[in-house]
Amino acid sequence: MKKIVVLRCLKAEENCAGASCLKAFNNKSAYFSRYADQEIELAAFMSCNGCENIKFSSKIGFNEKLERILRIRPDAVHIGICCQTRTADKRRCKYILKIIDFFEQNELKLYDFFENIYHKNRKNR
Ligand code: SF4
Repeated sequence: MKKIVVLRCLKAEENCAGASCLKAFNNKSAYFSRYADQEIELAAFMSCNGCENIKFSSKIGFNEKLERILRIRPDAVHIGICCQTRTADKRRCKYILKIIDFFEQNELKLYDFFENIYHKNRKNR
């Protein structure tokens, strides 16, 4: 059983119910099609802690959340497209990049929305 974590943008909570991601996960379609022949479990559907006018301010809470993800020992973290489309320049914001760096430093496998594996050389950022 593969344990999968989905990372999303807190601002997406304003108008996104997560239905598209969950449908894709349940059907093993779109960016979860790589698991067609495998059993998968959605171990966490986490968001960043936000920015600007929408954010949680507890750094302790944020660090706890990241440590919890590590304790789950996920097989992969999928970075939602909302982490990109909610930024002004349609690139990943600096906050989400810090989360990505933390997971990468802890040797978690990361995939972006387009199913590219996330490379240490940051090619697909
Ligand atoms: S723009 Fe970045 S920090 Fe702000 S809520 Fe979205 S992902 Fe999180």
